[in-house]
Amino acid sequence: MSRVFLVGAGPGDPELLTLKAARLLGRADVVLHDSLVDKRILAMTEARLIDVGKRCGGRATAQAEICRLLVEEALAGHCVVRLKGGDPMIFGRATEEMAALRDHGIAFEVVPGVTAALAAAAALEVSLTQRKVARSLHFLTGHGAEDGLPAHDWVALTKSGGTVVVYMGGRTLGGLATHFIEAGMPADMPAVAVENASGPGERWVSGTVATLAGFVERAGFAGPVLVMIGEALCEKESGRFFEKKLRKKLLRL
Ligand code: SAH
Repeated sequence: MSRVFLVGAGPGDPELLTLKAARLLGRADVVLHDSLVDKRILAMTEARLIDVGKRCGGRATAQAEICRLLVEEALAGHCVVRLKGGDPMIFGRATEEMAALRDHGIAFEVVPGVTAALAAAAALEVSLTQRKVARSLHFLTGHGAEDGLPAHDWVALTKSGGTVVVYMGGRTLGGLATHFIEAGMPADMPAVAVENASGPGERWVSGTVATLAGFVERAGFAGPVLVMIGEALCEKESGRFFEKKLRKKLLRL
């Protein structure tokens, strides 16, 4: 039977954990977790907690060290939960960890979780695959290997007519917007940034691909931020009136 579980903790709200994740947290001897994992979820386990997380350039446990710890704990006979924010396989470096476990012949199981994009869409009450408006859905990282923006195919993404969801894009949003506009995306394409989707302090700002970066900067987001761009975020198409709600309740931009 598996002794190691790569588990998705979901976007924040503990009620969005799967039943399986909750059961494994109750059974684990040790939990290696990212810093994005909500405190209320960590409080659900009596296991030994090891924080291997990092936030935006802060001190982090190197990936090799995380793999080493996972293997060491499993070989010691412990039931290990590797708890990652959202879904463990979406921008979660799961491949390296699975490879390390396979190399040592350690059985493991992956338990999916609700990824941030889905929580953000739920928070906004917007369908990211809105019929006739969004033909596809693209998950991008806004964070390249050398800390800059990755070299996405901006033209292809723009032409796709799909909804673009950017993980880890809070800091590179200005550059990302420039690339999209240069690739032919209309400057008034609707765009929304959501901070702490489903968690305490959830808030968002909306604008266009051209204006969003400035709004995000003024909002001073400190938590994890997800950026979504596309016609699906259009007020008319989605039936949502972000700006009004925003002015009333949130940031007075
Ligand atoms: N595996 C995670 C993503 C890890 S990458 C998942 O499936 O959700 C980390 C990035 O995810 C953050 O920089 C942010 O862009 C996004 N993110 C994670 N949780 C979030 C949340 N609650 N609200 C908004 N964005 C979030």
